[in-house]
Amino acid sequence: MNKVVLIGCGNVGMSYAYCLINGESKVDELVLIDVNKDKAEGEALDLLHASSCSKRKIKIKAGNYTDCDDADIICISAGRNQEVGETRLDLIEKNLAVFKSIISEINQTNFSGIYLIATNPLDIMTYVTLRLSNAPENKVIGSGTTLDTARLRYMLSEQLGINPKNIHAYVIGEHGDSEIIPWSNAIIGLNPIDNYINKSTKNKILKDVRNSAYEIIKKKGNTAYGIGMCLKNITDAIFDDSNLIFTIASYINKYKCCIGYPCVINRTGIKTAIDLSLTDSEKEDFSNSVKTIKEILNKIKI
Ligand code: NAD
Repeated sequence: MNKVVLIGCGNVGMSYAYCLINGESKVDELVLIDVNKDKAEGEALDLLHASSCSKRKIKIKAGNYTDCDDADIICISAGRNQEVGETRLDLIEKNLAVFKSIISEINQTNFSGIYLIATNPLDIMTYVTLRLSNAPENKVIGSGTTLDTARLRYMLSEQLGINPKNIHAYVIGEHGDSEIIPWSNAIIGLNPIDNYINKSTKNKILKDVRNSAYEIIKKKGNTAYGIGMCLKNITDAIFDDSNLIFTIASYINKYKCCIGYPCVINRTGIKTAIDLSLTDSEKEDFSNSVKTIKEILNKIKI
């Protein structure tokens, strides 16, 4: 029985839940928790009705923290969302308080599975989870720059007319304004990206990837489908014991923080982080992203 407990039944959480019941995912049981109990109950009922049309039977209910005892994955997407003009880092104090209350509840259960974090500011909330839960480092996964990587692949795919599955390009660093694209590692099929696009196109794509969330939030108030699908893919990678690579946020000892970095994911959680060989200027940009995260970590009281 593969069991997921989802805490935070807002746009992001429910987009993830809908992806789980829609696809071929191996989830057998899904429990919804929200501070707004009616919301969790209503969402569970709505999903149950949808699940009668889905391919696999999934047990779905609104629950409480005792459901965490035997959960394999707890996904946390609770907390405040960005408003127009706000950066992800503006959310910190409110979401820190939310996480303190949620993780103290989980700590009273027998949960020994994998944390999957979606709440922003993502790298900070992943680190907060690691410290508050005392869970092993390989069991605390933040969505990191998986969404940004998906956006990058979509944009390159549109530009080049090549399927995103053959685009091996990644966004790493902070899930936020200092994230970077290590172009020196980007491969299209078998060829280096430099065979396809020039520097000014690369700069425009980086700008567009970084601005994606701002643009969507300005138009529809939130972003949800992209992250919902990324969380579902990470969940599948765990249950399928897949050894797939994702740019999740994980604790990287060298940097003493959680940050978007390519890691191999399987049933144990994070199997390993992949060593990167970056150019000098990419190293400098990545250090700047680490610095952005650490400056915030030094200011907050976990
Ligand atoms: P939302 O406001 O729609 O939903 C948040 C939910 O959390 C609400 O249902 C609320 O009742 C619940 N909640 C608040 N405090 C809680 C608590 N203590 N316990 C349980 N539930 C609680 O917000 P959203 O649009 O779903 O966004 C959620 C988070 O995900 C935000 O921080 C947002 O910035 C982030 N996000 C991350 C990514 C990513 O790539 N990681 C992408 C989009 C959004």
